[in-house]
Amino acid sequence: MKVLKFGGTSVGSSKNINKVISILDAYAKESKVVCVVSAVGGITDKLLLAGMQAQSKDNAFKATFQIIKDVHFSIIKELNPDNSSSILNYAEEKLNELESLLNGIFLINEISPKTSDKLVTFGELLSSFIIAETMKNRGLSAYRKNAQELVVTNANFTKAEVDYSVTNANIKDYFSSAKENITILPGFIARSTFGEQTTLGRGGSDFTAAIVAAGLHVEQLEIWTDVSGMFTTNPKLVKQARPIETISYQEAMELSHFGAKVLYPPTVQPVLDLNIPIHIKNTMEPEAVGTIISNEFVASNNPVKGISNISNIALLTLQGSGMVGIPGFSKRLFETLSNEKINVILITQASSEHSICLGIEAKDVEIAKTAIDITFENEIALHKIDPIQVETNLSIVALVGDNMKNHQGISGKMFSSLGKNNINIRAIAQGASEKNISIVIEETDVKKALNTLHEVFFESITKQLNVFITGVGNVGERLVEQIKQQKKYLKDNLKINLRVVGLSNSRTMIFNGGGISLKNWKEDLSNGEKASLEGFFENAKSLNLRNSIFVDVTANKDVAGLYEKYLRESIAVVACNKIACSSTFSNYKELKRLSLKYNAPFLFETNVGAGLPIIDTLGNLIASGDKVTSIQAVLSGSLNFVFNNFNDTTKFYDVVKQAAAEGYTEPDPRIDLSGVDVARKILILARESGVTMDLEDIENIPFLSKAGLESNSVDDFYQTLIDDESHYQSLFASAKAKDCQLKYVAKFDNGKASVSLQEIPKGHPFYNLEGSDNIVMFYTERYSQQPMIIKGAGAGADVTASGLFADIIRLGNN
Ligand code: ADP
Ligand code: ASP
Ligand code: MG
Repeated sequence: MKVLKFGGTSVGSSKNINKVISILDAYAKESKVVCVVSAVGGITDKLLLAGMQAQSKDNAFKATFQIIKDVHFSIIKELNPDNSSSILNYAEEKLNELESLLNGIFLINEISPKTSDKLVTFGELLSSFIIAETMKNRGLSAYRKNAQELVVTNANFTKAEVDYSVTNANIKDYFSSAKENITILPGFIARSTFGEQTTLGRGGSDFTAAIVAAGLHVEQLEIWTDVSGMFTTNPKLVKQARPIETISYQEAMELSHFGAKVLYPPTVQPVLDLNIPIHIKNTMEPEAVGTIISNEFVASNNPVKGISNISNIALLTLQGSGMVGIPGFSKRLFETLSNEKINVILITQASSEHSICLGIEAKDVEIAKTAIDITFENEIALHKIDPIQVETNLSIVALVGDNMKNHQGISGKMFSSLGKNNINIRAIAQGASEKNISIVIEETDVKKALNTLHEVFFESITKQLNVFITGVGNVGERLVEQIKQQKKYLKDNLKINLRVVGLSNSRTMIFNGGGISLKNWKEDLSNGEKASLEGFFENAKSLNLRNSIFVDVTANKDVAGLYEKYLRESIAVVACNKIACSSTFSNYKELKRLSLKYNAPFLFETNVGAGLPIIDTLGNLIASGDKVTSIQAVLSGSLNFVFNNFNDTTKFYDVVKQAAAEGYTEPDPRIDLSGVDVARKILILARESGVTMDLEDIENIPFLSKAGLESNSVDDFYQTLIDDESHYQSLFASAKAKDCQLKYVAKFDNGKASVSLQEIPKGHPFYNLEGSDNIVMFYTERYSQQPMIIKGAGAGADVTASGLFADIIRLGNN
């Protein structure tokens, strides 16, 4: 004898029922088969909805009823195109009964648990009949036996307890003489000793199947569902979840108790005692191996077997100095809840006994609060304890594994990975057996927490980075292209799964929590929603993805103003925008503080020297205990271009115009030529060396003519370059006379910084600087004689993009 159970989706359409029938047909060739079925997928919910609507005098129950009717009728007709009439007659009869029951509920304006059970039985009664009769129509030896004649319970409606001695006797008795090869049983529904209709609790068809499997002492129980086994975590919330091949009864029970819906928790009990393995299989993918739940020990490297979650949890906290050392508080508390039939899912108690914290289902919270406040009325009145505190909108997330007790550091890893992602843990519970570590978190963080934990415990080799890029002009565009090109390399070689999840320019923005396909990103972006800086932030926040990174590829002050918000959400910030780091010292410091506090790195390597590793190197020197004594640098790609091309055969105006045309200057060239841009860079280097400094503290010795400095517009400024050509030629002539080159130099020495145009003699490291190259010389305590020199292209879209890219990868290795 074989016992199989098919769930709601498996019998949810004529197409799936055909799959079920062919599986049963194949099995029946080998042995007799008992098949337990659920209601057609979604029907139990619809029956309960119709009941609630009728109870509250809402005529919508009629439309709900009609949907229930239509679903069944079309399945019957699709399965039996030529001979559906007898099945339709039965369905018609049952549905008439159902309609009368709903009308009755409507009339009396009430639905008791007993009526509710009566109502939902229609789901399984219909599905089991339709399947058995369809099989008969196809010439198979099948029979529908009403499980209510076998499974006997108490009258605890909606979740009745089984009377095993009567039930087992019924099952043995019936099947000892059942003649058909295939018996179809409705799951979930039963009957009380007094003949009332009862149910075994939502999801209870699994339980019916286990009761029958145990009653018949079969070799194995098969649960056929819509996924290929029990997964490492909820596959609806974590894409990377995968089926667990083998798992112990205890682990399966813990996972299902803590929310793995694939198995109804009580299912394990009857088969556990008899050591009957449960095999979970996928109706839609019968060839997949599925999961075996048994007592067989299979060695595994991973002490964590699975992660599960329960939503709609409320936390109750009872606390007060009057509780300390006085026995009986917990007893009274639990007695109160038990009298109200409230299930306690999680308990934590501080060792001081000052407080007890309980996790219960949110639906029970009102009753629980009232009952507890009454129980402790006196103590509350005497201020020995506080009125019970209630928090809602919470979820439990549990790590499960029999072998966790033999491994150190699992909870540490759990908490630190959640902490890094800004997930606040409200309560923690760990049984002494250490098969389960549970935490209570905000409902809105569940998906992120499951994904984070799954990555840490099951995919530790790959790390997902979720990138939000704002500004896809020259540099941003190159960055996106570089990411697109390197995606596979990063995954294969660095185990980094780099996904762009948000993109924006000044006009439009797009998001995709599953990763934006970069194939036609420009076109997709141009069809995106209207861009706004706040909107971009809100999306990044509400997607709530682990390892989120905001990348600022603008030069915009308002974007820089939002870093604080990103960091507070534990979203890392990578910026080539210099504004934040060269703003007031207090703002710079505050961003650094937030970065530390919220575990969100703030990286801005490209603020100085584009892709050259200047800030990172400086950071490494400082971190390893070195001290910077002085810095000398040529940091402006645009000024280098200008002075490398300006001589007595060219005109200053023409060279500046050319630099602008080739994209080497800011749109307003005065920012470069006045030295402000270089001043910002040396300011950032000084600050990163540990010095408190503001932009005003930097001495800026201008080389522009007086008129140039005082010009009011870009056009005026260009005119002064023409008018004052002789001034610029005299700068060139003076340098040439001394055999020197003109370079715009930034200096930091003895706590002071300056920027100015300098005449550089032959032999000096700056003398031969070409094109738009940058150079930085660090003199430190360790590099006191010969400086550490970093030199190379310090401007340009490609190198700046690769600098940003390097910062992003640094986060991946973090
Ligand atoms: P059935 O109707 O076949 O009884 P259920 O809907 O009751 O199916 O259970 C299967 C569903 O359980 C899956 O579709 C999946 O969404 C959910 N689920 C939650 N956690 C897990 C898990 N750890 N492994 C597998 N499925 C899970
Ligand atoms: N149909 C019932 C429910 O939806 C029982 C089951 O599917 O297991 O809860
Ligand atoms: Mg189920």
